[in-house]
Amino acid sequence: MKIDLAEAMAVEDSLWQREASLDLEEVSIAQGRFPVIKKTPVQITARHSKKGRLQLKVSAEVLVEIPCDRCLTPVSSAISIDAERQLDLGESDQPVYIEGTVLDVDGLIFHELLLHWPAKILCREDCKGLCPVCGADLNQGECGCDRHVLDPRMAAIQDIFNKFQS
Ligand SMILES: [Zn+2]
Ligand SMILES: [Zn+2]
Repeated sequence: MKIDLAEAMAVEDSLWQREASLDLEEVSIAQGRFPVIKKTPVQITARHSKKGRLQLKVSAEVLVEIPCDRCLTPVSSAISIDAERQLDLGESDQPVYIEGTVLDVDGLIFHELLLHWPAKILCREDCKGLCPVCGADLNQGECGCDRHVLDPRMAAIQDIFNKFQS
């Protein structure tokens, strides 16, 4: 959703509040595309100190589905956004989510989501992950594969050892 901040600047030293809806359906970034499964309306507060100067506060809660780092099970991850920005709409240099006096709410939220993107996603603390041999989800049970990976040098020694035995 886009909202015009001109209204917020109508009166000097005034506080302006607005609720905006978030259109964002997925977060598409270098790591992949992650569906937005729930989102709260975006609360926007703007304090107009003087001509063109706005102190913008934006808050929202977005629930994004991100696969577990180990087993790839989708995990609902809540990302809280509580951002504060100083804008000077009289200047030519503006953030990407500002065009003239229009604020691209989705653009700003997208930007904030990236800043608050979780560094690590686990379906549970002790997630066992996937078997590197057969790909089975080890949380569902043991697949029976021999996952004892030998160091190549160790494997060579083992070969010699096996040769002596036979
Ligand atoms: Zn997992
Ligand atoms: Zn396996």
